[in-house]
Amino acid sequence: MLKIYNTLTRKKEVFKPIKNKKIGLYTCGPTVYDYDHLGHAWNYTQADVLRRVLEYDGYKVKHVMNITDVGHLTSDADEGEDKMEKSAREKKKTVWEIADYFTKIYFQNRQKLNLLEPHIVCKATDHISEMIKLIRKLLKKGYAYKINDGIYFDVKKFPKYGRLSGNTLRKLKAGARIEINPQKHHPADFALWKFSPKGAKRQMEWLSPWGVGFPGWHIECSAMSIKYLGESFDIHTGGEDNIFPHHESEIAQSEAATGKKFVNYWFHPRFLKIEGEKMSKSLKNFYTLADIEKRGISPLALRYLFLTGHYRSQFNFTWDGLNAAQSALYKLYENTSLLKTSSGKVDKNYKAKFLQALNDDLNMPKAISIVWQLVKDKKINEGDKRKTLLDFDKVLGLNLAKIKKVIIPPRVKKLIAQREIFRKRQNWKAADEVRIEIQKLGYRLEDTKEGPRITAINR
Ligand SMILES: [Zn+2]
Repeated sequence: MLKIYNTLTRKKEVFKPIKNKKIGLYTCGPTVYDYDHLGHAWNYTQADVLRRVLEYDGYKVKHVMNITDVGHLTSDADEGEDKMEKSAREKKKTVWEIADYFTKIYFQNRQKLNLLEPHIVCKATDHISEMIKLIRKLLKKGYAYKINDGIYFDVKKFPKYGRLSGNTLRKLKAGARIEINPQKHHPADFALWKFSPKGAKRQMEWLSPWGVGFPGWHIECSAMSIKYLGESFDIHTGGEDNIFPHHESEIAQSEAATGKKFVNYWFHPRFLKIEGEKMSKSLKNFYTLADIEKRGISPLALRYLFLTGHYRSQFNFTWDGLNAAQSALYKLYENTSLLKTSSGKVDKNYKAKFLQALNDDLNMPKAISIVWQLVKDKKINEGDKRKTLLDFDKVLGLNLAKIKKVIIPPRVKKLIAQREIFRKRQNWKAADEVRIEIQKLGYRLEDTKEGPRITAINR
């Protein structure tokens, strides 16, 4: 029995699917105007864990994820430039080139982190007609109105507005900035469709019944999730920063249009901190997966690191923590690879404990500790141990099955190569220093006739 925290009710709830064993899962995908950073990696890894736990529990998941390639403005108040157009201007490329490039990088990174591919990936720019249809419905039902710069949703017509984020219309009005369009009925009213600025031609714009322009960011996710998952579905995921205004507005416009409850469970991993700090431009700490690989660290070490944190606690990424995760991961690989591959069966006792941790609101830190208990348990025979670890890996996603022998981390490999160069130059002092560094990482180096032989310390 899976229990999961629901942002909407602010409670851990027993998960009850709409349709028996079939689950609709929607993930707010990236806005593809820049490189995705570790904050994204954390968020999408936690959503991946959620999906894997559902599947491990025996559910059949239909996973849909969008790509936002238009309409996400630099300000949440529907003002400012489109992030895509701004990036294209700065990088002197077309918006379409920018979208293609960063989408490609994003999916490469997903693969490196071993995130399961969504069953449907949908681009906002491919669904303009669905959005127009939804906006038309909202206008017809009286939930939307037209002003000089676009079509807006009238939040006062939807009394539940603010329920997800805990905002009230009064609070939102008091906190609103003054430069907001005075034609708006309420400062929290949000754009469904924006007209292209007068006299300017956007690279991405479409003809609508109300004028040439582009969709608002929120309407994209409503139109696409309804198209692929139906008017009501089970789980919606996104970053903590998506709660308001994005998800709050998705609920309002979807429920206003369909008259049905939009989503039953809202899943939001908390923000990631970097070395104790919030990610920010001034601190230049928007690290990417490429930064990690540059240091000779495997992206799966990052995945392992993220599994040691709970999605609802604020996780603090540190380079020391990542190095330790890399060592732990390779120790796990080594332990798995040493086990006899003879037949075995999944240990029921351990599986029950593992499941209990997962189903308690995805308690991955606990699940990881159970993995290590199992590794160290001498009473379990090797065949069963291996079989059980591989079974757990359906959730962990660390590719344990692919490990056949002791794997040397890329960082250590680099050091070995470096040491060989020093040895050829007969610079014994430098060679020895590198050997000590390798030892510190948990590997012992012996020189043999066939070349250096490496073994792991601390089995
Ligand atoms: Zn979204």
